[in-house]
Amino acid sequence: MSVPETPATVRHIHPDLETVLYTEDEIKARVRQIARQIKAVYGNGEFTIVSLINGAVMFTADLMREIDNPVRLDCIRVTSYGAKTKSVGTPQIVADLTLDIHNRDVLIIDDILDTGKTLSLVATLARRLNPASLRSCVLLDKKARREVPFQADFVGFDIPDKFVVGYGLDFAERYRNLPCIGVLKPSLYTTPAH
Ligand code: 5GP
Ligand code: MG
Repeated sequence: MSVPETPATVRHIHPDLETVLYTEDEIKARVRQIARQIKAVYGNGEFTIVSLINGAVMFTADLMREIDNPVRLDCIRVTSYGAKTKSVGTPQIVADLTLDIHNRDVLIIDDILDTGKTLSLVATLARRLNPASLRSCVLLDKKARREVPFQADFVGFDIPDKFVVGYGLDFAERYRNLPCIGVLKPSLYTTPAH
């Protein structure tokens, strides 16, 4: 007798999550819509994706496959939080572009826009290389946390000021492989008062 498959939407919630904000199916549907918006802007033209790893890995891979334009892909790495849930100090590029973006249409992709420091740094550095155009796309936007003014051209979901994991987003390198996006239980990163 075969065991019936459990659809992704009703799969058990990971025990470290407080809530699931977006299921795998909801993410998939939204990624398709964003791909259509991107296509409406670039038409059939070629553009260069600059993906901020590791966080944007899943989103970039899924989004790219929904777009049939000729695309070039490059990845850059910006200093990460480490095992923290709030950004500290100024982000720095630790692995830079390898493709030439001069005169190219460039789309920066990140997982989440929070204080805005990371994307404004990357956009400023990219602009110095004189791309033909520069746009940005984020899956999640925590508008309430913005410290540096930055607005992405394409946004998947506006989310509240909660620390989220899954679908590429980590806490101390864990949870990136969760297919959904959820709020991490604060008890996992807050130390109880003595
Ligand atoms: P920003 O420079 O805008 O403050 O931060 C952007 C980066 O911080 C994101 O690329 C992401 O790596 C990290 N980040 C911000 N908020 C969250 C969150 O809720 N969860 C996780 N896992 N990472 C976050
Ligand atoms: Mg990141």
